Amino acid sequence: MTIQTTTNPVRGRAAADVRTISVLGATGSIGTSTIDLILRNPRRYRVAAVTANSNAAALARLARSVDAKFAAVADPNAYRELKDALGNSGIEAAAGENALVEAALHPADWVMAAISGATGLKPTLAAVERGAMVGLANKECLVCAGALFMRRAAHSKATVLPVDSEHNALFQAMASGRRDEVRRVVITASGGPFRTWSKDAIAGATREQALKHPNWSMGAKITIDSASMMNKGLEIIEAHHLFALPSEQIDVLVHPQSIVHGMVEFLDGSFVAQLGPPDMRVPIAHCLSWPDRLPDAAARLDWTKVTSLAFEQPDLDRFPALRLARQALEAGGAASTVLNAANEVAVAAFLAERLHFAGIAGLVEAAMDAAEGRGLTKEPATIDEALAIDHNSRQIASELLPGIAAKAS
Ligand code: NAD
Ligand code: MG
Repeated sequence: MTIQTTTNPVRGRAAADVRTISVLGATGSIGTSTIDLILRNPRRYRVAAVTANSNAAALARLARSVDAKFAAVADPNAYRELKDALGNSGIEAAAGENALVEAALHPADWVMAAISGATGLKPTLAAVERGAMVGLANKECLVCAGALFMRRAAHSKATVLPVDSEHNALFQAMASGRRDEVRRVVITASGGPFRTWSKDAIAGATREQALKHPNWSMGAKITIDSASMMNKGLEIIEAHHLFALPSEQIDVLVHPQSIVHGMVEFLDGSFVAQLGPPDMRVPIAHCLSWPDRLPDAAARLDWTKVTSLAFEQPDLDRFPALRLARQALEAGGAASTVLNAANEVAVAAFLAERLHFAGIAGLVEAAMDAAEGRGLTKEPATIDEALAIDHNSRQIASELLPGIAAKAS
């Protein structure tokens, strides 16, 4: 286990130390929030490498703004544009899958893993394996290959810091007691845009409706996951790996105000919770400057505007994705890897308007059944195995997609 909750080995570093940072997925929602914090704290941080998928112009702009050393796009076709946009800035340009790994290997004390999807697994593991401090936003890589990921982190003595707001809350709350004194943890969910909708209305929800999150501003994939509540399911699996907790010690409560992000219940009946505004810059800052606190990461919470904090049980009938994720965690083996891959295919199809909303969970469930039937059951022991199961599951989901899409919503 690499998360330090009671001792802070680097606490003794001088406050004036400059931390070098690389940002994988720099052009995304988490990436740009990270860059915002870095730009506002130029004495604390220096940027080594930044990456993006294919938006060369945006990446070049960001790389120039922080005076990065290295900028990489995943898409080889975007190389020329990146190179031209970087001009004579002295920033090295690179492209392709290996360039993302190269970015992760660039000398930097701290790496933000904010690529979206299982495609972030390889570069994130590259940072972990060289023993870096890794701010982990990319939950899909834990859902795809969590056991393997945490084993590698323990071996390399990398420090994995949870950026996801609920897990960051648990990380902060855990410091109030010993691990063997934890009875259970609770992660909260906003409930998303369909919290009060009927099952039938949810089934036919449009892309536009699903992309309208009430509290958080995020990338498209996680916004759809929040609407289906698959996001909370992925987060149960994420918590299992990060904190070495079994499924029955990880609970979910719907909390529409998104102010209490997570709580730890200790054996004596005490609950210790972390609260804050629904702004990812707070958990990002906590990880970025850990074990110190970064002042003024986000606008402060105005308690006179918080009129109530409500909690309710999630409804597994209206949000079957949450049930499927719990089922995958409890089944073990390759089930979470399959779940994640099928969900990525389903969300992409929904965003492309090739699948109705209810079809997301429908496709995931069908793909999980089919994968089991085809013997895709063994937990991946290596990255190659994880990526092969991921690939095969995507293929299964793609084959099943037309049939599920044709079913009436
Ligand atoms: P986003 O879609 O806004 O950004 C994703 C980033 O990854 C972009 O820089 C994009 O260029 C890059 N990327 C996408 N596909 C890629 C590929 N195939 N190869 C290389 N790079 C690729 O997503 P986001 O909302 O910033 O989320 C990033 C990760 O953080 C996700 O795993 C998400 O679940 C997690 N997360 C996000 C939030 C949030 O508030 N946005 C909160 C918690 C966790
Ligand atoms: Mg979250």
